[in-house]
Amino acid sequence: MREDAIVLESHDASQFDRRDDDTALRVGATVVLRVEDLTTLIAHLGDLGYEVKGPTVRAGAVVPGPVRGVADLPRGVHDVQAPGEYRLVRGEDDRLFEWAVGPGGWKPEFFPAHDDVWRASIDAGEVVLTEDHHERPPLAVLGARPCEVAALGVLDRVLIEGEHPDIRYAERRDHAFIAVVECATPSAICFCDSMNAGPDARAGFDVALTELDDARGHRFLVRVATARGVDALQGVPFSPANTDDLSARTESLDRARGAMVRHLATEGLAEVLARNLEHPQWTSVAERCLSCGNCTLVCPTCFCSDVRDITDLDGDVIRQRTWASCFSVDHSYLHGGAVRPTTKSRYRQWMTHKLSSWWDQFDASGCVGCGRCIAWCPVGIDITQEASAIARSDGATSVALPSARGPL
Ligand code: SF4
Ligand code: SF4
Repeated sequence: MREDAIVLESHDASQFDRRDDDTALRVGATVVLRVEDLTTLIAHLGDLGYEVKGPTVRAGAVVPGPVRGVADLPRGVHDVQAPGEYRLVRGEDDRLFEWAVGPGGWKPEFFPAHDDVWRASIDAGEVVLTEDHHERPPLAVLGARPCEVAALGVLDRVLIEGEHPDIRYAERRDHAFIAVVECATPSAICFCDSMNAGPDARAGFDVALTELDDARGHRFLVRVATARGVDALQGVPFSPANTDDLSARTESLDRARGAMVRHLATEGLAEVLARNLEHPQWTSVAERCLSCGNCTLVCPTCFCSDVRDITDLDGDVIRQRTWASCFSVDHSYLHGGAVRPTTKSRYRQWMTHKLSSWWDQFDASGCVGCGRCIAWCPVGIDITQEASAIARSDGATSVALPSARGPL
C-alpha cells in the first residue's frame, strides 16, 4: 500500500474542513475548482510525468481511457443499469460524472489481465533475464468512483500486504495519483452504501472531487488529502470553499444514498454463509448460472491468476501472469481432478469467498458493492438476492445429500 495512503486511513470527513487560510493549498484543505480548470489540472499532471486516464465513452460504455482535457470526459452521459443490462443514454445536462461504474474498472491498470513477469533471451550464448515493469510512466487516475478506490484498497491487502507481494502491482500503486469523484447518481445495481464503500470517498485518494451543479454554478468541490494532491493542484486556479459548497456536497451525498435501491444486510452474513454450504439456494443459482466467469472478469476485487511460459520463434521465453477465474473447471484442478467440478460448487466458492471467507483471509469484505457482477451477468444473477435468500432461510438444507447427487 502507498505510504501516504496509510496516512489517509486516518482521515475522516471532519478533517476536510474550511479554514480562513484556505487561500493556500494544504493537506486537509477544501477548495473549489471551475469545471474548465480540470483541463489545467490534467495538463499539470502530464507535466509532472503522469499518464492521465479518466472515464471515456468507448463501445457504448464508460471505461478508463486517456484524457487530455474536460472535452474527453463523458459530458451529459447517463447510464441505465439493471440485472443483465447496461446502456448509456444522453441527458440534457452538462455534468461529467453523472453515471455509475461501467464494465472497465481501474483494476486492469494496476493488475493487468496479462502481465509479463520476465523475459528470457539468449545473448552471445548467455541467458539474459529482463523485467520490463519499470518502463511505464506513473498513472494519474482522474475520476475513479469511491467503490473503485475502496476496491483498490482491498487489492492492496491481497497483493501488497500478503505473504507474497506482487512487485509490479505494488510499484504501479505506489507511483499513482488518485483523484476520486464522489457519486451523485447511483445506478439501480449499486449497493456501495451497504458495503461502506460509497457514495462518499473516505480513504485511499490524493484528492476527492464532488461535482456540484446548482444555482451557484457548475463546479467541483475538492478535498486535498496528500502532499501529492497539493503538488498536483499547484498552478491550478481555485477558490476557497464556503459553507454553501460544503452543504451542497452533503445534500448530493444524501440524495445518492436515498436513491440507492439495492441493499445487502451484512451483519452476521459471513457466518450465515459459512454455515449454509448445503443450502438449496446453491442448487437454485446453479440452475441459472452459465459458469461464464463474467462476474469475475468485471469484479474490481477478484485477483486470481495463473502463471504460464510462452515461447516465440526467436527462442525468447516470456513468463506471463494472466487473470484466472474460479468459474473455470481447471482453476480447482488438484492431484488429477477438479475439486469444484460443478457450477454449484464454483458459484458457492465465488460468493462465499467474497462475502465470508475473505474476512478470515484479509479481515475485510471482498465485495465493495459496485454491482458490476449483477449488470454484466448474462442471466442477471444478483449477489445481493442470492445472499439474502440464504440469510432469510438460514439452516435450510438440500433435500438430497451431496453424496447421493454426485460430486459437489
Ligand atoms: S462481487 Fe460484484 S458487487 Fe461485489 S465488488 Fe465484485 S463485482 Fe462488485
Ligand atoms: S453468476 Fe452470471 S456472470 Fe457469474 S458465472 Fe454465473 S452466469 Fe456468468
